[in-house]
Amino acid sequence: MLSGRKYRVEFTPVQVEFAEQIGGICRSVWNTGLEQRRAYRKRGAFIGYAEQCKQLADAKQDFGWLADAPSHVLQQTLKDLDQAVKTHGTWKVRWRSHRKWSPSFRFPDAKQIVVERISRRWGRVKLPKFEWVRFRWSRPLGGILRSATITRDGMHWFVSFLIEDGRPIPQTHPGPAVGIDRGVVVAVTTSDGDFHERPFITDGQRQRYRRLQRQLARTRKGSNRRKRVVARLGTVMRRVRSRRADFNAQLAATLTRRYGMVVLEDLNTKNMTASAKGTIEQPGSRVAQKSGLNKAILDKGWYGLELAVNNAARYTGSKVIKVPAAYTSQTCSACRVVDARSRESQARFACTSCGHVEHADVNAAKNIKAAGLAVSGRGDLAIRRSVKRQPPRPRARHAAAPAARGIPVL
Ligand SMILES: [Zn+2]
Repeated sequence: MLSGRKYRVEFTPVQVEFAEQIGGICRSVWNTGLEQRRAYRKRGAFIGYAEQCKQLADAKQDFGWLADAPSHVLQQTLKDLDQAVKTHGTWKVRWRSHRKWSPSFRFPDAKQIVVERISRRWGRVKLPKFEWVRFRWSRPLGGILRSATITRDGMHWFVSFLIEDGRPIPQTHPGPAVGIDRGVVVAVTTSDGDFHERPFITDGQRQRYRRLQRQLARTRKGSNRRKRVVARLGTVMRRVRSRRADFNAQLAATLTRRYGMVVLEDLNTKNMTASAKGTIEQPGSRVAQKSGLNKAILDKGWYGLELAVNNAARYTGSKVIKVPAAYTSQTCSACRVVDARSRESQARFACTSCGHVEHADVNAAKNIKAAGLAVSGRGDLAIRRSVKRQPPRPRARHAAAPAARGIPVL
């Protein structure tokens, strides 16, 4: 099975400069390639990967600086562009901006790469046009090398190896199904009643972040001081991000080890934002928790969790299913009646029809699991049936309005 291994790199100052240079060349190859594709499309023509590669080779005659970068790396950039255009369409693929894009480039040919372990803590890799590059041997490589990718995150550089670990791909997992509710106050709740929670930002980091934001507002655009403050903000957020990523990876491993099927909500970010503010008739509750820094962190994490679960599931054979999030928090998991009033508070669900009382997040997670079982077991028929049970849109805009619009009340 193909798998990734990421290590922190310790470049020499010369290597840092060189890596930045290659990153810059890749960025302009990407942007030029995209510009060319768009120009072709405008006049109803098309240019593909093969033709762009040929032109790249010609361009090296005229633009000597292109030859500074390893040619495989530039070809890979065009291949990535090709893939991006195939996935998202010529007009949706983004430019790589000097400010926002961090260098990232791949060495696709394993034959040109040598990896060695030089001590307990250190390894080194030989990449085309680089001398030996040292990296922290933080985990075993454990497989046959396929490619290497260099990336920068803030001030740190990393190398990611794609390896074939020789493990067979498990097809099925005999374990039971689980529904996952991704909440605002508690990060993750399962249909079995487990709560998974970790503070992703410490109080100190929060204070520091706010202080830096105030500092940022006082700096002039383009000034060195502004750059410094932005870098410090990045450092705080990077710590938060890695804590979140760690949580996601561990939780994903736990879930896929135990369960044969993991059902996640197909979250719509628009709905989430709407539920925080609420409407004029019914203002949202706990707006503070759902907006600002907290929300930003959680929002990002949801997609991260989905990725982590999908990735972990490859190793266990668990099935990952996404179901629509609407009504999961208002439906009674015991009698299936939908009523916004059943959601008494953030934490408590009390069914207005059958009197079933449960933690609101656990109730929602159970509904998600039920929806997942319906989708996987009985196909579309089951979904259509459950849609019928949902209440019709009320004409007057009263208290039930957000529910009718499919906005989960959180
Ligand atoms: Zn009920």
